[in-house]
Order: sequence, then structure tokens, then C-alpha cells
Amino acid sequence: CGVFGVVGLPEAANFVALGLHALQHRGQEAGGIVSHAPGIGFNSARRFGYVRDNFTKASLMETLPGHLAIGHVRYSTAGSKGHTQIRDVQPFFGEFSMGGAAIAHNGNITNADALRRELIDRGSIFQSSSDSECIIHLMARSLQRNIPERMKDALRRCEGAFSVVAMTRTKLIGVRDPLGVRPLVLGKLGDGWALSSETCALDIIGAEFVREIEPGEMVVITENEGVQSYFPFERRASRFCIFEHVYFSRPDSIIGGRSVYDTRRMIGVELAKEAPVDADLVCPVPDSGTPAAIGYSQESGIPYAMGIIRNQYMGRTFIEPTEQIRNMGVRLKLNVNRALIKGKRVILVDDSVVRGTTSRKIKEMILDAGAAEVHFRIASPPTSWPCFYGVDTPEREKLLAATMSEDEMCAHLGVNSLRFITLDGLYRAAGVPEGRDPAAPRYCDACFSGEYPVAPSDMLEKGFQL
Ligand code: 5GP
Ligand code: SF4
Ligand code: MG
Repeated sequence: CGVFGVVGLPEAANFVALGLHALQHRGQEAGGIVSHAPGIGFNSARRFGYVRDNFTKASLMETLPGHLAIGHVRYSTAGSKGHTQIRDVQPFFGEFSMGGAAIAHNGNITNADALRRELIDRGSIFQSSSDSECIIHLMARSLQRNIPERMKDALRRCEGAFSVVAMTRTKLIGVRDPLGVRPLVLGKLGDGWALSSETCALDIIGAEFVREIEPGEMVVITENEGVQSYFPFERRASRFCIFEHVYFSRPDSIIGGRSVYDTRRMIGVELAKEAPVDADLVCPVPDSGTPAAIGYSQESGIPYAMGIIRNQYMGRTFIEPTEQIRNMGVRLKLNVNRALIKGKRVILVDDSVVRGTTSRKIKEMILDAGAAEVHFRIASPPTSWPCFYGVDTPEREKLLAATMSEDEMCAHLGVNSLRFITLDGLYRAAGVPEGRDPAAPRYCDACFSGEYPVAPSDMLEKGFQL
């Protein structure tokens, strides 16, 4: 998901809509905005579909006045059952004795089932099936006298990944979990401030990137007093999601002082060193494989070419909830550039193999078009474990790499060769020259290593085997 918030700017909701539009790649199912204006109070709008189709209409935006607003773009993750209902669309809102508060959450709370059971037993009335709603109910039960303190109380009980943007009548609040699994950044525009999942959304409103919110940090921002910083959790070494660098974030964002584009290009460079192969062309599976393919071509000297053309009017296929639509999705979105491919030995670079649906379809299309050889090079290690921290991966059994070795996957996909970058190679590309330190890994890499930095307690209770 993507979160964005603004304080101290007139028509804040319009800035939030722009920010969410730039974060649309983080969630395409639905979006929501809450704003507050003195004398008017809180207003909210939640809609299915793209930000640009909903939050550009003057008739809707006029219902969201004020200098303070937050928003959320949603895609549902492993924990959520079935299809999104409008009541699952964030921000969530709660009314407390000291006033209202709205929250937007990116990540996944790994003990949400246990919290929900406890809260329901004690009288909470849940409105949605979302793990994020626990935060509001935990805040309601806190005895603290102000909302930031109640948020601290609530989040201290939450395990897992959370980057939260919240608001009261006067405050914009941002929090990252102690490991800083999901991103959150601070920006400044004139007299106003912005919080955003990624820097690309600060660019769109012309805000200056100030800094990242630190893992375990809470910032409370008001129009008059600016930014106050707190560290409400026990300090721990950070474990940012390495898959944000590989796939999830936009390549024009800056994360941890690094250009996401450059990290992806360096993954391609590492891949070319680790897994060279003689071929005529390096082609990306667009768009997610593009920077790595550029790096692979630069390092290998094999020409880069657009062997697969992407229909720009399709979203991210992975985000389509059902198997059938996902299968269709590949063909609706990607097509082979036949004139270029015929008779060629082609290296295809993609970011990841999850279920193998994309790779299998693409191999068929490219052989149909007359390619002489197909070599897959993948910009992440085999995905053999599910993510419980806010990236949508299927159950373990559906992950190709959970049941097959690399050779078996190669045979299953029917390609001439298949190689994945190593975890060390990925760490080097992501700015850790010495590679992955097994004693203290710099990143979360659980979907590749099976080492979960936070025990997924709900899942363990349901019988998930580590
Ligand atoms: P597969 O078809 O193997 O199931 O999924 C791989 C494709 O989905 C890749 O092309 C990649 O760009 C995209 N993808 C991989 N992992 C994720 C993920 O966790 N979330 C989303 N939204 N897309 C993914
Ligand atoms: Fe990121 Fe993978 Fe960790 Fe999930 S399990 S937070 S996708 S690195
Ligand atoms: Mg892709």
C-alpha cells in the first residue's frame, strides 16, 4: 500500500490526491482521503479504482476541505480474505474523548488476529476485515490523554510492519515500526509538510525531500510548531524490505540515500557477472525488469532491446486477485516484438519469479515468435517463502521456488537456462559491498531466506511451519 499526508497547505486533499497518484504502483485496488477543516470537521471519501479516476473530480474534492489531509492507496495482502469491501478501504477513522483521528497504514500487523480476538472479547466493534483497524481500537482503549500518546500505546502492542500516516484536528503524525520494514519519508513545501511512502510522491507536488522517518520513530507535525520527533519503541537494528529495492518502489525514488533505479541497474550488473551467457539480445520483461536488463547489457556488452512491448493501459498483473485474471493479464499486458526476436538468442530479465505464471507465458510467446534460445535472468533470489509484512505473496505451496530447485524450475518453464541473483549479489547491488552478513543482515529478506525478523505469530498459530 501507499500512504501520504499533508499539513499546512491550503486544499491539502488536492496535494494528497497528487501524492497518491504518484504512489499508485503501491496499490491499485482502492484509495481514500480524509481531511479536516476548522469549523467543518473531518470529511472522508473512499473509492475503488485509480486515484486519477476518482480524486480528480471537483465535485468530490470540494467535499474534502482543509489544510490537513491524509490518504491511502490499497492492495490487499496475504492476510485479507477474498475481495476488498469498501469498508476495508483506508484511512480508518476513530472518535475519541479528545477528538477524532484518522490513520492510514502500510504494512502488515503479524499479530492482528490475536489482537482482534482480544479486542472483540473486550467489546470493540470492528467495521472491516483489515489488520490496520486494530490500531484504532487499541487507541480507543488507551488511557493516555492525547492522541499521539494513544498511538504510541497502540503501536507498542502491534508486531510486524507498519508505516503509518495519521491525523488529528491539528496534527499530522508519521510512525515507522522498530525495524523500519516499509518506507516513509518527510518532505517540505513552503510552510507545509508532507509525509509519503516514497520520494517520487514528494516530487509530484514539488516538495523538497527532507529526510526519511527513522525506524522506530514517530514524528508529530503541526502548522505552527513544525516537526517533533519521538522514539516510542525499544531501539533495534533496522531491517528494511529489500524487495522494495527489487520491485515494489518506483525506480525514481530515493531510499536509504540510494536511487532505486541505480540499485536495480547494479543488480543487472551483478547478474551479468554471476550468470553470464552467450546471446544476441538482452530484453527486459517490462517494466519491472527494465533497469536490471540495462545493467546486464552494460556489463555483458550484449545489446539491450525491447523484445517485449508493454501495453501502458494495464496495471500491475500481480495485483489482480484471481488466478484466471492473472493468467489473462500477462497477455493483455505484454506482447512480443516479433520482428526483433525472430531467430535470436534472447536473455530475458525479470525482477522475480513468484508463481511462475508470468515467466511461463512469456516463454511461450517468445518461442512462438521464433526465438532461437530463451535464457531467463532474475533480479532476485528464488522467492521460496511468503511475505507477512505487507507484500502480497501466495501461500508457500504456490511459490514455484518452494517446491522446485533452480534446475527443476528451468525444466518446468522450458527455457534454455534460468539463473537467479544470489542473496550476496543482491546485497552488494543494494549498497552492502561485503554482501549479506548472516549474523546481522542489513535488510529483511525473509521471502528469499526464510529468516523472518519478526515471528509471524498469527501464521505460526495457524500451523505455518518455519
Ligand atoms: P509470477 O507470475 O511468477 O507469479 O509473478 C512474477 C511477476 O509478478 C513479476 O513479473 C513481478 O514483476 C511481479 N511481482 C513479483 N512479486 C510481486 C509482488 O510481491 N507483488 C506484486 N504486486 N507483484 C509482484
Ligand atoms: Fe520485503 Fe520479502 Fe521481507 Fe516481505 S519478506 S518485507 S517482501 S523482504
Ligand atoms: Mg513484472
